[in-house]
Amino acid sequence: MSVRPSYALAIHGGAGVKPGRDYSRVEAHLERLISEGEAMLCAGESALDTVETMVANLEGSGLYVAGRGSAPSRSGRHELDAALMDGARQAAGAVANISAVKHPIKAARHVLEHSPYVLFAGEGANQVARAAGLEQVEDPEDWYTLPVGVLQTETEEAELQHGTVGAVALDRNGNLASATSTGGLFGKASGRIGDTPLIGAGTWASDRVAVSCTGLGEFFILAGTAKDVDARMRYGGETLEHAASASLDDIARLGGDGGLIAIDTEGNMALPFNSDGMKRAWVREGRSPGFAIYS
Ligand code: ASP
Repeated sequence: MSVRPSYALAIHGGAGVKPGRDYSRVEAHLERLISEGEAMLCAGESALDTVETMVANLEGSGLYVAGRGSAPSRSGRHELDAALMDGARQAAGAVANISAVKHPIKAARHVLEHSPYVLFAGEGANQVARAAGLEQVEDPEDWYTLPVGVLQTETEEAELQHGTVGAVALDRNGNLASATSTGGLFGKASGRIGDTPLIGAGTWASDRVAVSCTGLGEFFILAGTAKDVDARMRYGGETLEHAASASLDDIARLGGDGGLIAIDTEGNMALPFNSDGMKRAWVREGRSPGFAIYS
């Protein structure tokens, strides 16, 4: 008989993986980070604080297409998206097209805690982040860096490269949370917003399941993927594993690919992807952490 774990955590560094590239630095980072996240949950910290910390670290590493590893849009500006959701309160905060801050996920958390609104975009999002005193990007040339697995020659070619980071967690109080942050697509048109900051598309958490998605965002928006996992469980009685892979099958039917990470209140986890790989790590109480990029 399997025992319900009192905490569980999964993180991802995006499904934009190119076979044959050297991801050893990513593997080492994911392995280290998942242990830090486990220590937080083990110590009784909340799922929400844990997913925010995980994503802020992924953003700041410069290893992934999010935060520091993002590329400018065709306007020459970095336009980033992030969201997080607290399943216990069914409350969310999100920012889109933000360019002023080093950690968009912290701006999203500020929106969640201190605003009657859910989503701020563009200059409004920058103003919220500045007023909150969040760390600014003073010199974009100095802050932004090429992420692991992306070649300099690929950065100008529209939509050749994409990536995202995310985390989902179950804490010792039985609460769920999810967080997602992205630089979106390399060479994207200015003003393009993906699925990441759209609650129910790329990010979702309830008192049933927490979900963070990665892949070409337009497909995830059209399929409403993150909330679809919840709806399949709620109305269809599907298991987490079945719901997660069926939602991803819908993405494939639309012609897209990518992946998602999801955790339910029983501590079950699903980390399906239909792309070449998905950078990911996971842990639950009583088990050793795992990490993988390909199958
Ligand atoms: N979903 C992200 C976006 O389209 C990209 C990714 O996950 O790779 O903005």
